[in-house]
Amino acid sequence: MDRELLYETVIEPGTGKALELLRGQVLRIEQLADGGQCADFNCFNLHDYKEHFHTARTRHVHGLQPSTGAYLWSAPPRDRPIAVVVADTVGSNDILYGRCSAWLYDYQYGLPVHANCHDMQAEAQREYGLTPDDVHDSFNFFMNTGVDQEGRPYIGPNMARKGDYVEIMALIDTLMVANVCGADVMATNNFQYKPLRLAVYAGAEGELRGYESRPEMRRLQTQRTPEQFRIKEVKPTRELTRDPSYVPDFINVPITLADVSVELTDEDAALLDGLVGTGDFGTSRGEALRWAFHHWWIKRYMQGPKHLDRESAQA
Ligand SMILES: [Zn+2]
Repeated sequence: MDRELLYETVIEPGTGKALELLRGQVLRIEQLADGGQCADFNCFNLHDYKEHFHTARTRHVHGLQPSTGAYLWSAPPRDRPIAVVVADTVGSNDILYGRCSAWLYDYQYGLPVHANCHDMQAEAQREYGLTPDDVHDSFNFFMNTGVDQEGRPYIGPNMARKGDYVEIMALIDTLMVANVCGADVMATNNFQYKPLRLAVYAGAEGELRGYESRPEMRRLQTQRTPEQFRIKEVKPTRELTRDPSYVPDFINVPITLADVSVELTDEDAALLDGLVGTGDFGTSRGEALRWAFHHWWIKRYMQGPKHLDRESAQA
């Protein structure tokens, strides 16, 4: 796609860069050499750094290897897309692994002095007054990972080649921070560092609108903002001290339970008895009906990725 270039730089091994990307602008992270280089990536709300990219919500909605079209979600209670992947020439990204850190190389490899993503992220974002504690779980572009049969994560060879790139569009004003992953002793970067090109582009005509009109962008009352928080200011001290005037005031309580009577035909009752007989759906008709009802509801009405897909619960 033809885009107007606004800024470009090269990040060398051992370094990273924090960049302001206003809503609608696009960051391209590009491979400058063959051999494959992972870029760790963090993203903050430029006007409120407490809101930032959240790997867990993003994994939930888009799976373990998000690529073109995947949104980068912020953490609860904000829970909203703050950026979106608009191009990806490799399709091999990771949001399962945490960023590598000095401890990791020390503990696993006996290398107390080693380039690492955490320290690079911390140093790059320091340009904006953020501390090492403000680095958060990263989107690891070009990192090829999976989960084995035993449920353990693994790192595969990097598949990126010279000229490959990803593009991330800001959906709000953001601070995006990218660094050259410091893992030269893992397959993450095929055991060798390479520089990466970072380029900021103006979004193409209509591109932002296209991504803003998708279902993930529906605004819901449950996406809260700091104006709704009981404490609106960011805590200025590190020490935690008890507020003696605190009185618990949880929302949605008291939670009440009520019995609901359901009339069953003989046919319904036989189906439920069949479910109870499988041993997977409780020990009574009532428990089996709860499974059957919710399974139907999830299939019929639930939006987004669905959990609970047990073929035997098709009643
Ligand atoms: Zn790393």
